[in-house]
Amino acid sequence: MAKVIIVGGVAGGATTAAQLRRIDPEIDITIYEKGRDISYGNCGLPYHIGGEVEERDQLVAATPESFAERDVTVEIFHEVTAVDPDNRTVQVKDIRNDRTFDAAYDYLILSPGGSPRLIPALLDVPQAFVLHSLEHLDEIKAHIEEKNITRAVV
Ligand SMILES: Cc1cc2nc3c(=O)[nH]c(=O)nc-3n(C[C@H](O)[C@H](O)[C@H](O)COP(=O)(O)OP(=O)(O)OC[C@H]3O[C@@H](n4cnc5c(N)ncnc54)[C@H](O)[C@@H]3O)c2cc1C
Repeated sequence: MAKVIIVGGVAGGATTAAQLRRIDPEIDITIYEKGRDISYGNCGLPYHIGGEVEERDQLVAATPESFAERDVTVEIFHEVTAVDPDNRTVQVKDIRNDRTFDAAYDYLILSPGGSPRLIPALLDVPQAFVLHSLEHLDEIKAHIEEKNITRAVV
């Protein structure tokens, strides 16, 4: 049975896994996601902050548990740190348990996205945030509620 490893579990990675499972019920699929969350709509993040999307859950399309029901393995807090294309293996760091292991693949799909960069002038400003992930969303929402923020600059 072919084994597919997907690096990154948000829009690109999770959609690819779902589509692969639709096409092939047998194929062995594992997603490695270095962060806490998978399969959410980044595009909706500002709308939850603004209140148009009322429930945070509306931003989440799938979870590790719902993927497990479709026989897709999702490993969160697992970062792929190296690829060995000759031997078709990736090196994976299990961040929570501080251990590293190798995993073999037949097909490798890289969907690591990008990451926001705060402009240098704002690096030391505690009220300056970036918005790219659910973790960022949670930080911003907590700050707004904690400090009772009513004005912002984007
Ligand atoms: C606020 C906001 C609004 C947006 N609005 C729109 C819109 O209206 N229309 C539109 O078309 N697009 C919009 N986008 C862009 C769209 O959301 C992105 O293009 C899309 O999220 C990209 O998905 P991705 O899976 O490629 O990357 P990402 O969403 O960046 O996900 C990549 C994932 O890979 C993980 N990862 C990275 N490296 C590794 C590694 N080595 N090992 C394991 N995991 C790794 C990261 O932790 C991350 O979770 C918006 C984006 C944002 C942030």
